[in-house]
Amino acid sequence: SKITGKARITHYDAALNSARERQLMIENDIREGLEREEFDVWYQPIVDAHSQTMIGVEALARWPRRPDGELKPDDFIPIAETSGLIYALGQFVLRRACSDLQQIDTLKLSVNISPAQFRDPEFEDKVARVLETCLFPAHRLQLEVTETYVLENPERARSAIANLKALGTAVALDDFGTGYSSIGYLRRFNFDTIKIDKSLAGLVDDDVQASALVSGTIRIASALGMQVVAEGVENEKQMKLLRQAGCEQLQGYYFSPPLPLNEILQLPIWRKR
Ligand code: C2E
Ligand code: CA
Ligand code: CA
Ligand code: CA
Repeated sequence: SKITGKARITHYDAALNSARERQLMIENDIREGLEREEFDVWYQPIVDAHSQTMIGVEALARWPRRPDGELKPDDFIPIAETSGLIYALGQFVLRRACSDLQQIDTLKLSVNISPAQFRDPEFEDKVARVLETCLFPAHRLQLEVTETYVLENPERARSAIANLKALGTAVALDDFGTGYSSIGYLRRFNFDTIKIDKSLAGLVDDDVQASALVSGTIRIASALGMQVVAEGVENEKQMKLLRQAGCEQLQGYYFSPPLPLNEILQLPIWRKR
């Protein structure tokens, strides 16, 4: 049947409204979920490529106790960001992760930070306060930020990164290879670490161009004194190719998915030498 222009607009409005309604509903759920302690933090190992032992973990938010069913971070983080709830959620993740990892003093901790959080002029002070309260040594903490953040306000990014480094905390560029910036541009922000995105690292075993891009990135980053972590390592072949390309740190399902802390500490890669 023919849809008139007017009917189509009405239909479009309805779809927009229901997307907006869903967004508001989830926003409300996040707010209540934070109050009711429905969120958890899980950890994924970051492994030394040569010894194949766990040297650190990345903290990842989980929402298992949501009454309407679990949502994945890709579904709730963007809504937390647009609603401003990312401040509370981000603080929760940072605090929980620092207190969980406090006792395990040989593991480094990497925590994701949304551009919105990093934009907060008091962000560095908040990090310093969490470190103090949790008695967590600053040098064991790394914060992961994406390119979006540095591009929207390079001045603020530079000073925030400098302030964090003055605290002793490392800063990593997350999801490298998904944006548009070259490593030459990004080096000016003094990242300690570059994380090669899984969409790129996962291609090393079947795409010559991706593979060349990955090994080039690893070479340049190492020459500039930055550490490189490859994400999304799913099989032995990828692991070996990335190690051969000079990547010192690896992360992915090949080693372990994100898990609750106690399960991470049962893995053979933990303290296996
Ligand atoms: P990310 O920071 O790039 O985190 C890595 C994501 O890749 C995680 O998804 C992890 O489970 C997944 N992953 C790990 N290894 C593999 C692999 O071998 N293959 C594949 N296909 N995937 C792998 P997750 O936990 O669903 O998180 C998705 C995104 O949500 C994260 O991407 C991050 O951007 C965001 N996120 C998660 N937790 C937080 C948080 O506490 N704060 C902020 N701001 N963002 C978070
Ligand atoms: Ca990350
Ligand atoms: Ca990433
Ligand atoms: Ca990501």
